[in-house]
Amino acid sequence: GMTEMVRKITLSRAVRIMQNLFPEEYNFYPRSWILPDEFQLFVAQVRMVKDGDPSWKPTFIVKPDSGCQGDGIYLIKDPSDIRLAGTLQSRPAVVQEYICKPLLIDKLKFDIRLYVLLKSLDPLEIYIAKDGLSRFCTEPYQEPSPKNLHHTFMHLTNYALNIHSGNFVHSDSTSTGSKRTFSSILCRLSSKGVDIKKVWSDIISLVIKTVIALTPELKVFYQSDIPAGRPGPTCFQILGFDILLMKNLKPILLEVNANPSMRIEHEQELSPGVFENVPSLVDEEVKVAVIRDTLRLMDPLKNKRENQSQKLKQPAVKEEPSDSEPASPSDANPNPEAHLPSICLKQVFPKYAKQFNYLRLVDRMANLFIRFLGIKGTMKLGPTGFRTFIRNCKLSSSSLSMAAVDILYIDITRRWNSMTLDQRDSGMCLQGFVEAFFYLAQRKFKMLPLHEQVASLVDLCEYHLSLLDEKRLVCGRSGTSGGRAPDSGTPQEAAASAPLAQGTPPACTNSAH
Ligand code: ADP
Repeated sequence: GMTEMVRKITLSRAVRIMQNLFPEEYNFYPRSWILPDEFQLFVAQVRMVKDGDPSWKPTFIVKPDSGCQGDGIYLIKDPSDIRLAGTLQSRPAVVQEYICKPLLIDKLKFDIRLYVLLKSLDPLEIYIAKDGLSRFCTEPYQEPSPKNLHHTFMHLTNYALNIHSGNFVHSDSTSTGSKRTFSSILCRLSSKGVDIKKVWSDIISLVIKTVIALTPELKVFYQSDIPAGRPGPTCFQILGFDILLMKNLKPILLEVNANPSMRIEHEQELSPGVFENVPSLVDEEVKVAVIRDTLRLMDPLKNKRENQSQKLKQPAVKEEPSDSEPASPSDANPNPEAHLPSICLKQVFPKYAKQFNYLRLVDRMANLFIRFLGIKGTMKLGPTGFRTFIRNCKLSSSSLSMAAVDILYIDITRRWNSMTLDQRDSGMCLQGFVEAFFYLAQRKFKMLPLHEQVASLVDLCEYHLSLLDEKRLVCGRSGTSGGRAPDSGTPQEAAASAPLAQGTPPACTNSAH
C-alpha cells in the first residue's frame, strides 16, 4: 500500500485529515487542493483571500498525481492559469501553495532528501538516517515573477532535471557541487550561528507526524494482505522524504517517495556522446550506510544469533552442539558487527512516542474500521459492517435513527467512490469512515474543538467495544459455541472481525446488545 499512500493526492488527503484535527502541528505541509475535484474550491478560496488582502500575490505549483522527477510540474500566479484543456480530466493533480522564500546557499535553492526506515507498522517503529542528500538548483534563485515562472533550473531542485543544465557540477567532495551531504549544509549553517539542533529536531518531528498521517490507511492495506496476530511475513520499507527549508529554517514537506533511488553512481560524458558510470562520492557516503544499517536492523538471523550468544554466556548449562545446526559465526565472535561503523539509522519512534501519541487519533479510528471490515482482503466497509459499528458502539439514539445511519452511509460512500480512482471494491473507504466519524463526533460533543470531539468519540467507541469483548469472553468461557462472529453482519464479514470474535457464540452477541 505504500506506493499508493505516497502518491501526491493520497498524501495530500491523509495530511489534510490531520490538518483538520491538528492545524498547528501539521502546518509543515503547504496548503493543497486536489484537481479536478477541488478546482472550484481552489478558485473560490484564493479569490476570498485575495479580496481580504489585495497585497497577497501568491504563486502556486501544479504537480501531476503520478508524476516524479519534476515531470509535468509548472508554476502559476492565478487559478485561471491552470492548463485545463483536456489534461485535467485525464491527469489528476495537486495544486499547492508555492514556498517563495526558501533558504538559499550560494544563492541557490536546494532541497533535502532524507532516508527513513519504517521498520514496523504495528507497533510503530521509525528510524531516520543521520545524514541525507542536498540537491541544488543550477540557476540563482529569484522570487517567482511572471518572467521567471518557467525557469525550471531556478525553481525545481530535482536532480533528474538539473543534471541537464550546463551549470550542473558533479561533486568531488561532500560539501561542494550540485549534490552535497546534508551534514555539510548543517556544518555550514552551524558556523554561521544557526541552532542546528533545533533544525534537526523540527525535521524529526515532521517525519514522525507524516508517518502518523500515513499509518491508518497503510494498516488497512496491510491487514488485507497480512493477517494480524499470526506468525508470518512482516514488511519494512525505506522511504525517501523530500524536505525544503524555508528562509526562517522551518522545514516543509514536499513529498515522500516509496521507492527512492539507491544508485551510487552517476553518468559522466567522457567525450561527446560517450557516457560512463562513475562512482558518486556523495551518494555512496549516504546510501551505503542506509542500506547496510537497514539490513543490520532487519536481519532475521540477528535475534537468533543474539539468543545463541546469550546461551554461550551461561556456563552452568552445557549444551552439546547440534548436528542439524552448523556453528554460526557468532559462536566464535559474540559480536559479529564489532568491525562495522556505528549505526547511522537513529530510532525516533517509539523513542519520542510520548510527545506524539496524542496525534494518533485516526490510527485508532482505523482500528475500529478494520474491526468491522469483515472478509479478509477487503478494504471497504459494507453497509452491515457500518450498522454493526453504530450498534456495538451504541451511537444510535432517538436523534440518530438507524435509517439516518443508512442515509449517512450511502451519502458518504457514494461521494468517495465517485472521487477515488479505485473502483475495485464497493463500500466505504477509510477516508469515508473518517468523514462519517467526524460527523458523528460533532453531533455528539457539540461544544468542543474538533480533535476533542473526535477523541471523545473514539474513547466512547473503544469503551463500549471493550465491554462487549469482556462479555464475549465470559460467554465464551461458559462453553457456548458455534454461530457467527459478532462484529459484522454476515458470516463472511464476521470471519475477520475482532480477535476475540473467533469461536464466540451468537447468543452472547444478542445478550450484549
Ligand atoms: P516530483 O515527484 O516530480 O519530484 P515534487 O513534489 O518533489 O515532485 O516537486 C518537484 C520539485 O519542485 C521539488 O523538488 C521542489 O524543488 C519544488 N517544489 C515542489 N513543491 C514545492 C512547493 N510547494 N514550494 C516550493 N517548491 C516546491
